[in-house]
Amino acid sequence: MSTSNDHGFGTRAIHAGQSPDPSTGAIMTPIYQTSTYVQELPGKHKGYAYARGKNPTRVALEQCIASLENAKHGLCFSSGQGAEDAIIKLLRPGDEVIATDDLYGGSYRMFTKVFAHYGIVFHFVNMHDVNEINKHINDKTRMLWVETPTNPLMKIIDIRGVAAIAQAKKLMLVVDNTFASPYLQNPLDLGATIVVHSATKYLGGHSDVVMGATCTNDDKIQEELAFIANSCGAVPGPMDSFLVLRGLKTLHVRVQRHCENGKAVAEFLKSHPKIDKLHWPGFPDHPNHAIAKSQMRGFGGMISFTLKGDSLEEAFRMASSTKVFSLAESLGGVESLIGHPATMTHASIPKEMREKSGVLDSLLRLSVGIEDANDLIADLRQALG
Ligand code: PLP
Repeated sequence: MSTSNDHGFGTRAIHAGQSPDPSTGAIMTPIYQTSTYVQELPGKHKGYAYARGKNPTRVALEQCIASLENAKHGLCFSSGQGAEDAIIKLLRPGDEVIATDDLYGGSYRMFTKVFAHYGIVFHFVNMHDVNEINKHINDKTRMLWVETPTNPLMKIIDIRGVAAIAQAKKLMLVVDNTFASPYLQNPLDLGATIVVHSATKYLGGHSDVVMGATCTNDDKIQEELAFIANSCGAVPGPMDSFLVLRGLKTLHVRVQRHCENGKAVAEFLKSHPKIDKLHWPGFPDHPNHAIAKSQMRGFGGMISFTLKGDSLEEAFRMASSTKVFSLAESLGGVESLIGHPATMTHASIPKEMREKSGVLDSLLRLSVGIEDANDLIADLRQALG
């Protein structure tokens, strides 16, 4: 079936970029497990020459992700970090980037420990109030980098507000949409230049693959990103492309349940006497709840909280006492996970900076899965003690 933007999200999640295999009628896109393609004459081929550049399973996936992000173009990479790496390679030595201060630790590590050595300058700014960004803009600024909701504090950044600054100053705006997924938020519609995903998370959805993706409406940026992907080679294999393509077919159904379970768990934790601060954008008293409501179609299943007394030992005890929630890195899969950002996902951020942004010793992060909500709540109740 060929889809258009008139089709609903669920129809596009299942069909976009995909049509029955012309040689057999197979309804599922074949896993084109090949590194090369036969040519009739040198340079005369069916659009595929060598699989680092293009693979049909990957192309179907790229078209499907692009459709879900309302984008003209999509590209897949071997990990979310591979996608981010390609985006930063659009820059040149001396260029400056202004990024969210509450950022995935791996992104922070790549910016400060890899790209800083190549002369790219990063500023980390609390974007809760977008006007803070203006203070750091100078004639070398090229890119604004936003994660919203942020990892792990679930801060909400006003994408339209940042996009207005980007447009006025002619800067690229990159939005990491991993936490929301395209089912809840479409940053390109709000003015972003590039959307980036760790497809490892909600897009794949089953904790069985590592992958990244970029989407853009800008032809020139797409051409440059595709050039970087082919030149540097961080591309995913056909089997992984198939797994994410299959995962996408249930994205809308899964994320609906993640949102329902996230709400039930957040409400339970909010009234628990051992919880100090709870971070979930669905509560009306969340500092940017109104913005979350205006740019997201639901509040998701990611929650973080601190414990009263802020004890590291107590956080470790809880994280190792859950039975349905597994203690593990990552998020966005069907199964519920619990993590300790200060020593796991955010260990590469210096303690002083981490604590300044609110990532305290007792902060725990939940990726609420799609099991039965009652079982999830009972598990947290027993683990809190
Ligand atoms: N962006 C966010 C918000 C993440 O949480 C992660 C990984 O946890 C990444 C990017 C990096 O993605 P990957 O692990 O697929 O390289």
